[in-house]
Amino acid sequence: MPRRIDTYLKDLIPEEKFAFYETVRGFSDAEIAPHLLQWERDHRLVPDECIRAMGELGLFGLPIAEEYGGQGGDHTDLLLMGLALGYHSQSVAITPGAALSLGAKPLQLCGTEAQKRAHLPALARGERMFVFGLSEPGRGSDAANPEVTAVRRGSNWVIQGEKCWSTNARWASHVIVHALTNPTGANGKRSTCFIVPMDQKGVFYQEMQGKKVWEQSSTGSIMFDGVEVPDDTILGAENDGFKVMVTTLNGGRLFIASLALASLAFALDKTRVYAEERIQFDNKPIGRFQRVQDVIVDMDIALERGLSWLMHCCRLYESNALSREQAAKVKVDCSRSASELLGLAMEVCGGVACFDEFGLIRHHNDLFVTRVGEGSNFALKDLIVRPLRGK
Ligand SMILES: Cc1cc2nc3c(=O)[nH]c(=O)nc-3n(C[C@H](O)[C@H](O)[C@H](O)COP(=O)(O)OP(=O)(O)OC[C@H]3O[C@@H](n4cnc5c(N)ncnc54)[C@H](O)[C@@H]3O)c2cc1C
Repeated sequence: MPRRIDTYLKDLIPEEKFAFYETVRGFSDAEIAPHLLQWERDHRLVPDECIRAMGELGLFGLPIAEEYGGQGGDHTDLLLMGLALGYHSQSVAITPGAALSLGAKPLQLCGTEAQKRAHLPALARGERMFVFGLSEPGRGSDAANPEVTAVRRGSNWVIQGEKCWSTNARWASHVIVHALTNPTGANGKRSTCFIVPMDQKGVFYQEMQGKKVWEQSSTGSIMFDGVEVPDDTILGAENDGFKVMVTTLNGGRLFIASLALASLAFALDKTRVYAEERIQFDNKPIGRFQRVQDVIVDMDIALERGLSWLMHCCRLYESNALSREQAAKVKVDCSRSASELLGLAMEVCGGVACFDEFGLIRHHNDLFVTRVGEGSNFALKDLIVRPLRGK
C-alpha cells in the first residue's frame, strides 16, 4: 500500500518539493531502515558513514543560502527532510535537523557577515556542526535565567558552568552558549550568546548515558571551566542572548512537529496493514472491528490535519509572519495527538507491538521527546494562553 503521508503531501506541496521529499525518502528506505534495528541493539549513535552520506546528499546545507555554500532551500525542505527521515527514525532525522534548525539557524538569523562567512560553508558541507546550548541541569523551562555565567575580563569573556541535553554534542565543532552576562538586567535582557569552539581550552564534553529515547542521537553534557573567548564570538547583541534563542526556537518547534507527524505516519501505515493481515475469529481480519477502525481513522485525520497545519505555519514562517503562539500550538498539537494515538495503535497491534523489530515502540518512546523538547508542552501553554487572556 502507498504511504498515506504521500497522498497528503502531494496535495500540499509543489511537484518539485515532492520530488525532493521522494529523494530523501528513498535514501531513508535504503540507508537507514535496513540498519536501524542493529544500530539500536548495538546501542550505536548514528554511524559516521551515515552522517557522511547525509552530507553528500546535501542535507546539512538544505536551507543555507547558495552564496554561503548551501542548497538555497527553505524551511519547507527542512520539514520534508524531517518527515522523510523521521518516518523510520526520529533520532537520525534530528541529527541534520538540529544541526540546521538549532545550530546553523541562529547564525543565519543573528550572525554578523564575518561570522556567516567563517562558518556557514563548512556547516553546509557537514564538516562542522553547531549545537544549541540553552538547557542546563538546573535550568530547563526557565531558560531565560541561565546559571552558566560569562564575565568580562579585559577584552575577553570568561565562561563558567554546565550545559546539558545538547543534541549532536558528539559531532559538534562549536557550541552556542547562552550565558548570564547582566544579572541585574530586565527579564530577557540578562544573557548573551557566544559561539565557542568545542576544542577550546576548558571545554569538556560527556555523552549523557542511559537515554532510552532518540537512542541514535547524541545528547551531551558540556562543561565550561574558565573558558576565555573574545568579543567577536558574541552572536547577536550583548545581553540579547535570550532573544537569539527564542527567535531560533520558532523554526525548531516546526521541525519537532514534523518529527511527531513522521512517527504518526509510520504508525498509521504499520497499523492499517497489520489490521488487515491479522486474521482471527472466523478467519477474518481484526480490521473489521469498529474499534480498530476508529483508531486507524483517528490517526488518518490527525495526520492530514497536522500536515496541513504544519505547512500553513511553515509558509507563515518563511514570510516572517509566524507568531510564537502559532509555532507553539502546532508543536503541542502534533506531538500530543501523535503520542496519544501511538499508544492506541500499539494496543490495536497487541503483543507484537512490544518488540523492537515491529518499530512502534521506537516511535512511541521518541514521541516523548517531541512533547518535552524545545519547550515542554505544559510550559508552552503559558505562551498560548496569553492572547486568550487578552495579554
Ligand atoms: C533528547 C533531548 C534532546 C534535547 N536537546 C536539547 C538541545 O539540543 N539543546 C538544549 O538547549 N536543550 C535540549 N533539550 C532540553 C529540552 O529543551 C528540555 O528538556 C525542556 O526545555 C524542558 O526542560 P526540563 O527537562 O529541564 O524540564 P523542567 O523545566 O524541569 O520541567 C519539567 C516539567 O514541569 C512542568 N513545567 C515546567 N515549566 C512549566 C510552566 N511554565 N508551566 C507549566 N508547567 C511547567 C512541565 O510538565 C515540564 O515538562 C533536549 C531534551 C531532550 C529530552
